[in-house]
Amino acid sequence: MTDQTWTPERLDLLRKRWLEGRSCSAIAGELGVTKNAVVGKAHRLKLPAWKDPIVRGMPPKPKRGLPVLYVPPVEPGPEPVELFPREREPRTCQWPFAGGCDAPREHRRPYCTRHCCLAYVGRTGRAA
Ligand SMILES: [Zn+2]
Repeated sequence: MTDQTWTPERLDLLRKRWLEGRSCSAIAGELGVTKNAVVGKAHRLKLPAWKDPIVRGMPPKPKRGLPVLYVPPVEPGPEPVELFPREREPRTCQWPFAGGCDAPREHRRPYCTRHCCLAYVGRTGRAA
C-alpha cells in the first residue's frame, strides 16, 4: 500500500473532515480517493469512530467466510420539509395555510399580526 496520495495536507484535511462528521464518500470525493482509502486511512490514524449510528466503534473482526457488508452512510442533505409542523407552541401563530407560521401570536389572538390582518379583515375593521 503506497502512501503517496496522503500528503500531510491531505491527511490534515481527512482528519478535519472526519472530525466534522462528513461522510466517507464526501471526504473521498473531496480528496479524489476511494471511500475504502478514506475509511482505511482514518482507521490507521486512529480517528474516533463515526458518529453515524451505522458505523459504531471499530468494526468487528469479520467472521471467517462471511462477507463484510459495508453500509454507506447517508449523505447529509437538506432538512426535510415538514408538511405538518410539529405541534405548535401555544404562543405561535396558528395559521393553518401555506405550511403554517411560526411568528408569535398577537395577544389573545390565534394568529400573528400579519395573519390577524388576513383572518379578521372586514370583521374588525383593523385592516381597513
Ligand atoms: Zn402568522
